Amino acid sequence: MDKNANYPFRTPAYVVDEQRLTDNLKILRNIALEADCKILLAQKAFSMYSLYPLISDFLSGTCSSGVYEAQLSSDKMPGRENHIYSAAYNPDDFAHIVKICDHIVFNNFKQFSQFYPQIRRSGKSRKIGIRINPEYSEVKTEIYNPCSPMSRLGCRIEDFPEALPDQISGFHFHTMCEQGADVLERTLKHVINKFGHLMVYPQITWLNFGGGHSITQPGYDIKKLIDIIKRTKKEFNTEIYLEPGEAVAQNAGILVSRVLDIVNTKSGKCAILDVSPACHMPDVLEMPYRPPVLGGFEPNVKPHTYILAGPTCLAGDICGTYSFAEPLAPGTEVVFCDMAIYTMVKNNSFNGMKLPSIYTKNTSGDYSVIKRFAYRDFMSRL
Ligand SMILES: *Cc1c(COP(=O)(O)O)cnc(C)c1O
Repeated sequence: MDKNANYPFRTPAYVVDEQRLTDNLKILRNIALEADCKILLAQKAFSMYSLYPLISDFLSGTCSSGVYEAQLSSDKMPGRENHIYSAAYNPDDFAHIVKICDHIVFNNFKQFSQFYPQIRRSGKSRKIGIRINPEYSEVKTEIYNPCSPMSRLGCRIEDFPEALPDQISGFHFHTMCEQGADVLERTLKHVINKFGHLMVYPQITWLNFGGGHSITQPGYDIKKLIDIIKRTKKEFNTEIYLEPGEAVAQNAGILVSRVLDIVNTKSGKCAILDVSPACHMPDVLEMPYRPPVLGGFEPNVKPHTYILAGPTCLAGDICGTYSFAEPLAPGTEVVFCDMAIYTMVKNNSFNGMKLPSIYTKNTSGDYSVIKRFAYRDFMSRL
């Protein structure tokens, strides 16, 4: 190990800080208590199940986007609420979903009609919801906008049947992405305008406000959120669910990498790292966005500017250009911030890249290895 290294493990590695995760979870639990609502972990953002015992001390359960997430919830957070939504269920999986999920949200009434008989025959009491598309979203990034004209996500009011089937007890909407309580307030107005006449007690007993709430970001208006929830509960006499992903583990993890080589490009020096945006932080390329780097500034703010890039053969496997106070050299650690969410769950081993190890840092500052990956993890999927 390099004697200059700040971290006592090999790179690349994700490190999730339990204190920071707990800080987020406390904020969420306080909201749930004050507003008398339920908050679920959206596993699609963060599925690090070694921390599910901690998370389940603070949240009511999980929501899943696919059958394996639902299974993980059933295995690793047993006895807590297990919600699922999918744009279309696979008939091969549905019997199992009925077995393990207590809330099942359908994307439209065709899906409901196709699968409801299986729920009835199972004899299990399952809460059934419909995802609605209020056709109002303030999401500017098209790839994340569930209300775009091409969106298949959720049922528009014009596609509702004349009479709401009486097995439906809840509605779900998810139209936000990294947004504040003011956006929720405006969205809810549209939801109520379009669907409020259907949100009638005693048939409708729960509403799910989805994810995309930046609750654990500084400046988020928590009081407004609590007011909105209380108001809606009172107006419609329903239970309210939130299912944040990002907000649960926001800023709770880092990705520690190391410089392998420095090369010259026509646009300046490039530090080739042992991590790849394409493999290990895919949202950097998909969204796209510029990930924060510890001690990294905008280009030319500090004396030493580098393009940070992965070692793969993908020309565009680039994080961005950053400047540093000290020069980078082979062996220098480069730390990417806010890397707990939408990373481990999206990892791939394109180019035969290694998957980063997963560590936790406990409240005393000690690191524990949760998982190390090897060749077999690459091979076993092919
Ligand atoms: C993605 C998603 C979430 C979580 O979104 P965040 O932006 O991570 O809070 C919750 N519910 C549904 C239906 C989703 O698709």
